[in-house]
Amino acid sequence: MLEKSIKELHEDLVSGKVTSDELVKEAIRKSHELNDECNAFVTILDDAKGVPVTDNLLSGIPYGVKDNYSTKGVLSTGSSNTLKDYVPFFTATSIENLEKSGAVMVNKTVLDEFGMGGTGTTGHTGIVRNPWDKTRMCAGSSAGSACAVAAGIYPYATGSDTGDSIRKPAAYCGIVGYKPTYGMISRYGLFPFASSLDHCGVLSRSVEDAAIVVDNMKGIDKYDMTSWDSKDFHLYDDLNLDVKGKRVCYIKEICDIENYSNPSDELKEHLKNFKEKLELCKELGMEVDAVSVNETLLKALSSVYVVISCAEATSNMSNLTGFIFGPRGEGNTYIEQMKDHRTKGFSPLIKRRFVIGSYVLQSENKDRYFHNAARARRLLVDEWKNIFKDYDAVILPVGSGPAKELENSANKLDENRAVLEDHLQIGNFGGFPSITIPDGFVSNLPVGLNITGNCYNDQTVLNIAYALESKMDYKNQVAKEVNHG
Ligand code: GLN
Repeated sequence: MLEKSIKELHEDLVSGKVTSDELVKEAIRKSHELNDECNAFVTILDDAKGVPVTDNLLSGIPYGVKDNYSTKGVLSTGSSNTLKDYVPFFTATSIENLEKSGAVMVNKTVLDEFGMGGTGTTGHTGIVRNPWDKTRMCAGSSAGSACAVAAGIYPYATGSDTGDSIRKPAAYCGIVGYKPTYGMISRYGLFPFASSLDHCGVLSRSVEDAAIVVDNMKGIDKYDMTSWDSKDFHLYDDLNLDVKGKRVCYIKEICDIENYSNPSDELKEHLKNFKEKLELCKELGMEVDAVSVNETLLKALSSVYVVISCAEATSNMSNLTGFIFGPRGEGNTYIEQMKDHRTKGFSPLIKRRFVIGSYVLQSENKDRYFHNAARARRLLVDEWKNIFKDYDAVILPVGSGPAKELENSANKLDENRAVLEDHLQIGNFGGFPSITIPDGFVSNLPVGLNITGNCYNDQTVLNIAYALESKMDYKNQVAKEVNHG
């Protein structure tokens, strides 16, 4: 039942075929089963109740919330020991908007600690396993949300995306992941990681469902000064399969196999699979071109991301002292107590990021590192904006293949493929609307492709995704290995 789309579930609720309470109970039962196998949830809300169905498509339907969204009266940990007992007294605006729509939250999903990671293995409650193959990771940081949606627990869950945290797990789990233009959804109540890069968004099993959910999450908010008025955006109503004449391009340096020395069979298959989808774009009447971008800038991408994200994270998380939130540290002075709280609370990975962040923000280093990174960010964004003068969207493969094995997750990334792994970060640098959709299988595991457009062109990006999805067989797919049907 819960493997159905939002529209189908809504019709079943309206016709009385099922009640909201039945759906909610079913989602909770399945959440416990999935947690035993894949560890997707920090909290399962056993007492959640159904609500009356209204005209709103989301009403009465269960969904999940990433555990870095504040939820009033419900544990919100950010998957960190520093907040392992934190219960907020307010709810994030976007979640409040979903509540107003009648959506029913049934669980809080595991992430990489505070969103700082890409594996789904660093949360304080343990690693999240991929429902297609439990020896593999879901990617991160929205690992639990991706896992649950792919396993058919509910049609959608919220995610957050600072570098790729919605769009990479979506690819690894064979589902859709969409982050709209920066500021379309209020970030108020989302635990800040790197504020200039942080986006709220959604993981779902179809483009249509993603559009419905974001329509209900978005809106200007006096508590987020970067939010803007999107009341003229009707993402779901304006979905359109007619993309004839749209112009899309891919980037040669990232997509052409000749650029990789000793490519693995998997990488070859992944890029070949991607290129086949470009033919689908042509069949849909779109123009497809290859473009070239400045390689020096591309190579700077991940360093720029590290400098900016670590600097902002270090500053944002300086309020985690154990005095205002989280368990109080031990010691005789407040400095000792704070040190104890932060030493015990943060995992080594996060501490490493704080060291980098503090270093690049030190007054004697700031210009050389932080300001230079900001300049390079601007150049990269300009490079993409230049592309958007001629093209409606850039279309690229996500990552260098399917989900990686958990055992090898600590392996250093192949330098050669770094850009392929990291290019989604440009979507955060520019605040661009960006969506991942499943585009097939490599080594019997799902892979994804990404479509990114210029700011405020969400509808075009969604329509291209919607049209491409309609030409493939992966819409509404549910993971095969763990299938709690
Ligand atoms: N994987 C990236 C990181 O570790 C992105 C995370 C994110 O988007 N939240 O910073």
